[in-house]
Amino acid sequence: MSGGPTGIALIGAAGRMGRAVARAAHDSPEVSITAAVDRPAADGFGRELGELAGVDPLGVKVGGELLEALRAADVAIDLSHPSALEGVLAAAVAAGRPLVCGTTGLDEGQRAALERAAGEIPLLYAANLSPGIAVMTALLRRAVAALGPGYDLEIVEMHHRRKLDAPSGTALQLAGAARQAAKERSATIVHGRSGPAGERPAAEIGVHALRGGGVVGEHTAILAGEHERIEISHRAGSRELFATGALRAALFLAGAGPGFYSMNDALGL
Ligand code: NAD
Repeated sequence: MSGGPTGIALIGAAGRMGRAVARAAHDSPEVSITAAVDRPAADGFGRELGELAGVDPLGVKVGGELLEALRAADVAIDLSHPSALEGVLAAAVAAGRPLVCGTTGLDEGQRAALERAAGEIPLLYAANLSPGIAVMTALLRRAVAALGPGYDLEIVEMHHRRKLDAPSGTALQLAGAARQAAKERSATIVHGRSGPAGERPAAEIGVHALRGGGVVGEHTAILAGEHERIEISHRAGSRELFATGALRAALFLAGAGPGFYSMNDALGL
């Protein structure tokens, strides 16, 4: 790697997040986008990335050559679609390049594939690239461990009407962290309740997805005890937040060895 800006290959470049990363990169002296990849069918395929993102030209066109893009970059950022993952992982491993993956809606097999690839390249997966969510997850872990049983956990999330997967990857990440922190809680995750649901068992985590409008992303973890209720909330103000988080993760990964990392590692939490 040279002493200049860190070169980024951006996958899903023509999408909402891809364009936001392009804008954040335009504003950062530490990185430059060296390649932009998307599907030929994507709206914006073949266009100049900076123009597409509403900033000055970045000297990169949105193309389809994944392996070539990765070879020309120091780090890759994937914010595309689960269907792209297999090809992205194969290309990152073949090119020997670190990968930040923020694509959500992955299934078990795809998560296992991420972990396998992390045996060969530095790989950071974050269902939510915002530093605030990493801090919220750490706070939730501490709260659950300190409060012990007797506090019911419900997680409520809201996102814009165009989001494809539910519940959000972040809500599942929060539920997973809480499960780990409450060692005795082999909790079942319940999505919504209706009809004669019966009394709420203690070993249950409710995860509820609201969808509507242009909401960027909101998560609240509610710990309800018999006599008190704690709520830990995070509200994303704009998707630029995730874009700057993606660049922060990429800069961290550029100096890391092979392994499976999270935003906690990038933030030194
Ligand atoms: P979007 O639909 O606007 O953009 C996705 C882009 O990926 C599109 O341009 C699409 O053409 C492209 N794409 C789809 N399949 C592809 C393939 N096989 N190869 C290459 N490109 C392909 O969606 P978005 O709002 O930009 O979100 C993209 C992803 O990032 C989603 O999974 C979303 O949930 C996730 N996301 C993650 C975070 C985070 O912090 N980790 C934040 C926001 C969104």
